[in-house]
Amino acid sequence: MIEINAALAAVRDNLAASGLETLPIEAGRGRILAGDFYAPEPSPCFDNSAMDGFAVRWDDVDGAGKDCPVSLAIVGESRAGVPFAGEVGPGESVRISTGAMMPAGADTVVRVEDTGDDGGEVKIFAVGRRGQDVRYAGEEYDRGDLLLVKGTRLFARHLAILAAAGVEEVRVFARPRVAVLVTGSELVAAGENLRPGRIRDSNRIMIRAAAVEAGAEVVYHGRVGDDLAATVAAIETAMASAPDILVCAGGVSVGHHDHVRAGASRAGFAEIFWRVRQKPGKPLFLARRGDVLLFGLPGNPVSAYVCFRHYIVPALAKSGGGQWKHQTVLAVCAAPIVNRGKRPGLVRVRLGAGGDGMAEVCGIDRQGSHMLTSIVLADGYVHLAPGQELAAGDRVEVFLF
Ligand code: AMP
Ligand code: MG
Repeated sequence: MIEINAALAAVRDNLAASGLETLPIEAGRGRILAGDFYAPEPSPCFDNSAMDGFAVRWDDVDGAGKDCPVSLAIVGESRAGVPFAGEVGPGESVRISTGAMMPAGADTVVRVEDTGDDGGEVKIFAVGRRGQDVRYAGEEYDRGDLLLVKGTRLFARHLAILAAAGVEEVRVFARPRVAVLVTGSELVAAGENLRPGRIRDSNRIMIRAAAVEAGAEVVYHGRVGDDLAATVAAIETAMASAPDILVCAGGVSVGHHDHVRAGASRAGFAEIFWRVRQKPGKPLFLARRGDVLLFGLPGNPVSAYVCFRHYIVPALAKSGGGQWKHQTVLAVCAAPIVNRGKRPGLVRVRLGAGGDGMAEVCGIDRQGSHMLTSIVLADGYVHLAPGQELAAGDRVEVFLF
């Protein structure tokens, strides 16, 4: 039996290197950039107007005011996407739209609110400074500037800057491939006949969903009864889907009908650890064949879920090019939380809004590892040493579901 942190370290140490792939940028949302991205061109690409108004020569309008307006001839227009072809000479102006290219000869924009025009002439009633309301080429960034660093998760705003730079494809980390195999002769799927002693399989749907939530692609899912030969065959079938991680559930304890460890061994997996000093999830099993990791989760759905969250979620995050880390928040205990057990506990808790802006945390009465309500009602869990008691007002790190 090993400690929680040793088990985490073993998972981390045995993770294979992340894969890479190239995707059209619209498929890159949520994925992690595999390399730094440098600007292929400056932004803006050309001098343009920040306002709707008139492009003018500062020397013509310097000193214009409400009582002493300057009149200029309107010699053309520069629209967004349709530049003015000529040059603005002394005493001239060009009507200009936001984002439209500055015409040659002009160096300043007067916003429309500070002008009056009759179509042929414009009167300038107010000015500030030379160059006002001009956006200069390269003022945001230059060609070759670093825009996005490797490891950035691509959200809408990141896709926008890639699109603005003319990028059509992005190089990102591949999503880890997960195969799911639930074991147990008692299991039936929803819709199947529930004969006496049978139970419905909740682990398969839960693990598939948890894997997707953690950024994985589920490439296979199946179910096998409590039979060694069938378990070996099912592991091989799951392996044929070329997973990075095979997640088994159930059949990993010391029972007469628990075949996952023996089945994994016969399928060529070498054991890394079995049993972790923790509650729930003591029978947790980890094995490896080549680059593929096999997790044997306990069958009890709560144990399976808590183990998935604590050991597999950070592994999937890292495999997908992200950070190995648990999402946590610091919270204040609203009431005592106790671990009466002899093993370190991953004790389910609920979060609420605290008075001073800090989250408040309280325990959940029924923590049985067969009780799905204990994870449905919970927002996460806290680590408590055997016998540890948190008092109301204590601060504790909550691992978030
Ligand atoms: P095991 O780890 O196989 O001994 O299973 C422990 C407990 O979890 C037993 O009560 C099983 O019936 C239950 N269990 C195992 N697999 C599942 C599953 N896929 N869905 C719901 N309960 C399960
Ligand atoms: Mg079983």
